[in-house]
Formats: sequence, C-alpha cells, structure tokens
Amino acid sequence: MKNNIDGAKSPLKDRTAGINLAKSIVYTVKEPVVVVDKQGMVIQANDGFYSTFKLQKEENSALALGEREIFLELDELLKNDELQEKGIKDLEVSFNILQAGEQKFLVNAATLDKEKNSSDLILISFNKINSENQETKADKDDLENFRDIFSQAPAMICILRGPKHVFELANDNYFQLVANRDILGKEVREALPEVENQGFFELLDTVYTSGKSVTGNEMPIKMYTKDNNFKNSYVDFVYQPILTGSNEVNGIFVHAVDVTEKVEARQKLEERENELRQLIDTVPAIIWITRPDGQNYYLNKNWYEYTGQIESESTDFGWLKAVHPEEEPRVRQIFKKANDNKEAFSISFRLRNKNGDYRWVIDSGRPNYDAGGEYLGMIGTVVDVHEEKVKEQLIREKEHRIRSIIEEANVATALYTGREMKIEIANDAMIELWGKDHSVVGRTLRKALPELEGQPFHDLLQEVYETGETYWGKEDPVNLMIDGTLQSGYFNFTYKALRNEKGEIYGILNMAVDVTEMVKSRELLKESESRFRQLADLMPEKVANTDADGNFIYFNQGWLEYTGFTAEELTRKGWVNFIHPNEKEEYLKSWQNSLESGKDFEMEFRYLNKKNRYKWHLSRAEAVKDESGKIKMWICTATEIQKIKLEEKRKEDFLKMVSHELKTPITSIKGYVQLLLSLLKKEKEQKLSEKPYEMYLVRVDHQINRLTRLISEMLDLSRIEKNKLDLQKETFSLNSLVAETVQDINYTNTGHNIYITEDYNCNIHGDKDRIGQVLINLVTNAIKYSPFNRDIEVRISKAKGNKVSVSVKDFGIGIGQENQKKIFKRFYRVDGNNEETYSGFGIGLYLANEIIKRHNGVLRVKSEVGKGSVFTFTLFEASEL
Ligand code: ADP
Repeated sequence: MKNNIDGAKSPLKDRTAGINLAKSIVYTVKEPVVVVDKQGMVIQANDGFYSTFKLQKEENSALALGEREIFLELDELLKNDELQEKGIKDLEVSFNILQAGEQKFLVNAATLDKEKNSSDLILISFNKINSENQETKADKDDLENFRDIFSQAPAMICILRGPKHVFELANDNYFQLVANRDILGKEVREALPEVENQGFFELLDTVYTSGKSVTGNEMPIKMYTKDNNFKNSYVDFVYQPILTGSNEVNGIFVHAVDVTEKVEARQKLEERENELRQLIDTVPAIIWITRPDGQNYYLNKNWYEYTGQIESESTDFGWLKAVHPEEEPRVRQIFKKANDNKEAFSISFRLRNKNGDYRWVIDSGRPNYDAGGEYLGMIGTVVDVHEEKVKEQLIREKEHRIRSIIEEANVATALYTGREMKIEIANDAMIELWGKDHSVVGRTLRKALPELEGQPFHDLLQEVYETGETYWGKEDPVNLMIDGTLQSGYFNFTYKALRNEKGEIYGILNMAVDVTEMVKSRELLKESESRFRQLADLMPEKVANTDADGNFIYFNQGWLEYTGFTAEELTRKGWVNFIHPNEKEEYLKSWQNSLESGKDFEMEFRYLNKKNRYKWHLSRAEAVKDESGKIKMWICTATEIQKIKLEEKRKEDFLKMVSHELKTPITSIKGYVQLLLSLLKKEKEQKLSEKPYEMYLVRVDHQINRLTRLISEMLDLSRIEKNKLDLQKETFSLNSLVAETVQDINYTNTGHNIYITEDYNCNIHGDKDRIGQVLINLVTNAIKYSPFNRDIEVRISKAKGNKVSVSVKDFGIGIGQENQKKIFKRFYRVDGNNEETYSGFGIGLYLANEIIKRHNGVLRVKSEVGKGSVFTFTLFEASEL
C-alpha cells in the first residue's frame, strides 16, 4: 500500500483527515468548540459546547445549527460566503441560553482549509465574555487559549514559527515522539536532523510558502529513540498554516497521530494477503477476482501462464479476448448478468491457450462479500475440461449413433437408463410390440408398462444391471396390455448391459422378437404330434418315424414291446441290427433307394424279438412331404406276418406234397396198367389164368383207393374251410366200427399187428363214415410212424360223464412236446421227419380233429419221442343202445 500524501495541490482533500483533525482539536479544548460543515451540520462538538449551551448530546448528534433558535444568528453568519472564506475573528455574539439567560461570547470560526470548495468543515470556538476579562481576552492570541490544552491532547501537537519552522510549542505526546529532546526554540532541521530527507521538512516549507494546509496519511518516519536507535513509526498528520490578522503565514500548526500500530497491523494483513495470493498462484487452477463493477481485479499466475496474456492485456474486461470469438458475446453476457444480480454462475466455453489452441474450460464464479455484507465482486475459477468435454462429445456422438441405429432397426429395440430403467429410446417396432405410443419414452419401464409387475422382467433387468451379464430370453412368455386387454405372447429377447467410457453400467439395451406365432404353431404341432404318438402307441402295429434322411426319431410302444428296448436303446443299437442277416443287405439297398427317390418302401423281412427270435414282418415306409414336395419325414410301419408266412410255407409244402402224393399212385397205376397191357399182348403165348392179373389189379385198386382218399381229404378240407362239412348222423355200434375198420386196414397192411381191446361196448350217435375216417387216419398214422416196432393197440374204454374213448397206441417215433398241439393244424408236419419215408401232407389229423370237434368230442395225443404215441378221441355215448 502506497502512502497517501496529498500535498499542496489539494490540502485536506480527504474529509476523514479533516474530521480526525477536528476531532483531536475539539476534544483537547475545554471551551465550547464545534465543527460544522457548510450546511451547518454539526460534525463534532466537545463537552464544553454541549454543557455551555445546555444541549443534550444524543439528541444533537445530527444537529443542524439552523434548526436551533439559539444558533440562528450564527447560522446566518456562517452562510455568508465572504465570512466563510475569511473566517470570523473575535465576533461578539449573544446567545439566549435556556435557564441561564442571555450570555455573550467571542466567536472565532475558520474553515479547516482556506481553499474554497475543497473543504466543507468549519471550526467554531466560543469564548465567554466576562466583565473582568473582556478586555484581556480580546487582545490575546487565540491560539494561546489552547496552550494548556495542547499539553493534555492525545495527539502529537506542536506549533512551528517562522520560515525555518522553529518549535514554539509542543505537547507531551510530541515530546515523547522526539524522545524528549530539547526542541523548543530550535529549527526543525536542527532539532530533528534524522528526519532530513524523509520528506517532512519539504512539506513544511511548502505549507509555509503556499499558505495551504497539507495532510499526510500513514507517512513513515524514522526517529531516534532515547538510546539513539532508530525507530520506525507511521503518522497521520496535518500541517495547518497559522495566519496573521493580515492573512500572512507566520507559523504552522502541526497535528499528528501515531498510526504505527494500525499500519503495522494492516501490513501484516497485507503480508498475509500476499501469502494468500502466492498460495492462489500455486493452486493448479486459474483463479480470478473481479471488482463490484465487474472489472478484473486479480488473476492468478495460472491465467497468464495458460493464456499467455500479460497483466495489462487482461485488465478490465481484457480477459474476454482469450475467449473463443464465437462464444465471447455469450460469456460476456452471462458474466455481466451474474455480476449484476450478484449470483453464482458456471459456464463452459473455449479459451485460447498460449499456443493459440482453443480448449474447453469451465468458468465458475460466485459473489464475494466482506464481513459487513458488502458486495466485493466475484471470485471464481477456470478449469480446463477439454479432454472430458471431447470425450463427452464423443459419447454424445456415440449415443447419437446408437440412437439412430436403434431407431432404424427393424428389430424391436429399446434402451433403458439408470437403475430405475428409464425408457431413453424405443423404436417404432418396440412401441408397437408393447402396444403403446411414443409417450412412454422418458418414463420408467414400471410406469410405462405397469402390467409387467409380477412378471420376472424387472428382476431380470436389475440382475443384468448388477452383474453386466447378458440375459437371453428364449420363447419367454410375456403378458402385455394391448388395446386394453392383457395379451400373452412369446418373445426371444436380450437384455444387454451398456457401459460408459469408465466401464460403468449406465443402461440396458433390449432387443426383442415376437415368436408367438411360431411357438403357438409349434405347440399345436406338438399337440397333434403327441396325439399321433398316442394313436401310434395304441396301435398293435409297430410304427416308427424318421427324419428326411432316414434317421429314426420315434418308435411306438409296439416296437418297444417287441424288442424289449427303450427308444434310446433302439436308436443307439441301430435299428438295422434287428433285421435278419439274410435280409439285411437287401433292406439297406431298398431303403436307400427309397430315401433317394422318395418312393414308397415295402419289404418283407424278419426282425429279432425280445426272445431273440426272428419273426417275419411286412415293413412299409411312406414319405411325408411338404408343399414344395420336399421330404419332411418317413412314417414306417411293420406288421408281423409270421403266421401268414408259415401258412404260406405250409401251403407251399402242401402243394409239393400233394403233387408228390398224387404222382406216386398215378405212376404206380400207370406202371401196373402198362404191365397188364403187355400181358394182354402176350395172351396167345400164355394162358390168362396163369398170368398174375389179379395181383396187379389189386395193386391198381390200392393205388386208386389212396388217390381217392387223397382227393376226398382235400375235398373235406375245402368243405371244412367253407364250413360245409355235413355230418350224416346215425346211431351205431362203436365197437363194430372199430372192428370193421381194423379189419379193412389189416387187409391192406399186413406188416403190422393191430390188437383191439374192448373194455367197453357202446353205441354212439354220429356220422359213421367220418368217425371211421378218423379211425383210419389214426391207425394208418400209427402204422406209418412205427417203422420198427410193429405192434399197435386199439382200445375202447368208458370215459367219465357218459363218454366213450377210443385210443390208438403205437410204439413208433413219437412226437416232441413242442409239436403235439401243432400237428392238429392244417399242413403241419413235424420237421425233421423224413418226408420220403413218411409220406403225407399234413391234413389227416386236422380233419380228424375237426370231425371229432363237430361231434362235441375231443381228440388228444400223448407221446414221447422214440417211445411211441397214443391218440385218443372221446365221444358222447348214444343214449340208447
Ligand atoms: P400226414 O399225412 O403227414 O401223416 P397227419 O395230419 O396225419 O399228416 O399228421 C400230421 C403229422 O403228425 C405227421 O406228419 C407226423 O409228423 C405226425 N404224426 C401223426 N401221427 C403220428 C404218430 N402216430 N407217430 C408219430 N408222428 C405222428
């Protein structure tokens, strides 16, 4: 802080200094003294003034002289311009004082500065006129009146006389200032030599020669102390010229106040302020302070380093020159408005750095007030945020890109931000999917789609927001309120977390595809498929289906039961391995052919069953094609034809046998006939009786009988099949029938011994020929299948419940247990029996059984291989004998 010395040019310019002077004078004087301004307003008055004129101090603190009657006259005088200029000297004025009556005073008044318009303070002193001192007072130098008072005054006061400024008078304080040196009567330069060159003496000279007072503020002064050390002090002072009656300067009134403490305290403050500034300068930010009018007051070092400006450039509003021209008007306006309104602001703009580059900064300021609440201006900072801003712009661009991608996407897409899932963007497809309108954008998902409450989506979204792991919804059911009704749909969708530059999750991208149609139609398909499967499972047939390439995807229950495996096992083992090795190759060829051509497949082959036996099946497969004719799958069926197959074989064997059986007697008949013919030709040579005609004819007859039997058996067979076997029932003796039949057989079969045992004798009611036919069949079989042991027993016995049984027992080859039932079936002949040895065509027992059944009887067999067989039929007895 520079020291203010307002010299000759404008003495007492500083009103404060004048008041200070007035105060110090006023307080030091006992007589009434008052300081007023040109308008007569009391600026300061001493106790003497108040007590003499009986005025209350408080009520007169803002006293105007003109307002008091007592001072009216004085007020008039003071307003006289001339008087103001010259002052009043020993003017006798009467004042009518309350309670005390009229009293006379000598009034002296002088402006504190002679120069017009430069000072407005007038010092007025009142000297009461007593009868005894009236004369002497008038003659006295008015300053002498203060002589005593000076010594007591708190200020340092002295009076210097003459051009050399000789000390005439000094009060105690002044003596203290000069370390009690003997100064009276000495010139200042002589009395205080160390003050030379400190500017004071020159000022005294000026005051003396110019007649104008001078004030000094906080003027440093170095003076000797008692022990001859220098002491630095600061003083406020007034050099007031003392004028003679003719207005000549003849002395100087010095009034000084020691302000060292105050100055030092302020200096400390300033030091601290400097420290603070240094601190501010070291802060890695730009700091600025402006004045109340907005002008720049202070910018820290960083500003200059950043912008490259020099101090003079940034003064006032010069700092705005560093702001980007495009933004300067806006910045200026915002700053001005904030300053005018004394309100905080924050603004982002580009600031030119010393390299000429514009960089983004944030300038924030706030109003600054002193302790008393007075507005001091703004204080603020400028922070370089270029990188962040550029990043932010990039993010914004990115966001913009995301936005346009989302908006243009065909797939329903939406972007939610924040934990509250605010719908930031939702494209038309998504809005349509939701069944909402664009008003949902900007709202939270919860508010926009309240129907989602209770469905799992809010939780899923929160989880994705927490974990950052994408959620893939696959055909998830969603209920949405569309056109006022809650509609269910299925969606494939993703919740994908979005991250900012720092990797923090700020939102979720939701893409969704409506797959309702697909799921529903598939469900329908599934339903119909399961119905088909149910149906297929119910079918006793074996049903399976394959894909277009022939891979098996389904086997029905029939298959599982047949093979004893599960569908998985079947697939694993390979279905083809269940086919009989003999047919496998052909199957593979034929199946491949169908797969390639799409033509129906049909083949007979054997499949292995769970008992490890092969059974014949008719396998068929048909391709299921789509609209374009492409094969979708194959439906395969397999029908067991084992029985048919065996029947067929039996028929084949039968035909073979029939032809064989027919050929044998015919060949033999033909042989005998030829023989007989040749004999006839030789008739002349030999007598007829000598020739063996009879024997040959018997043979022919035998063969014809065999043929007839064969043919009649076949006829019977077809009759039975057509259910046209008529029975000619009669009552006859069973025993006689047995005897006749055995006799007949014995006639032609001489090789075997047939014994008849009759345990019982009875009639039966039935077709005699047919029963006879049964008997023939059983006995001829017994003969045929007993090539070695030639005994045959025929027994008639009583059976339980009015029945009679006839059994034919042989000791031949016997029949295995497994064949004992089958032999009663058509064309069945026991495998392994030499067909040549045992001729026959497997219908004899079938016919016998059928005939007995039609008589409500039963035909049974008991047999052991190698030991022989017993065939027994049981019939009801006839009621009458
Ligand atoms: P076939 O003309 O072949 O004799 P059948 O119907 O009379 O036809 O008999 C059926 C099969 O039963 C015979 O082929 C034979 O294998 C067996 N069979 C019938 N009777 C006897 C028997 N007494 N001893 C052993 N096997 C017999």
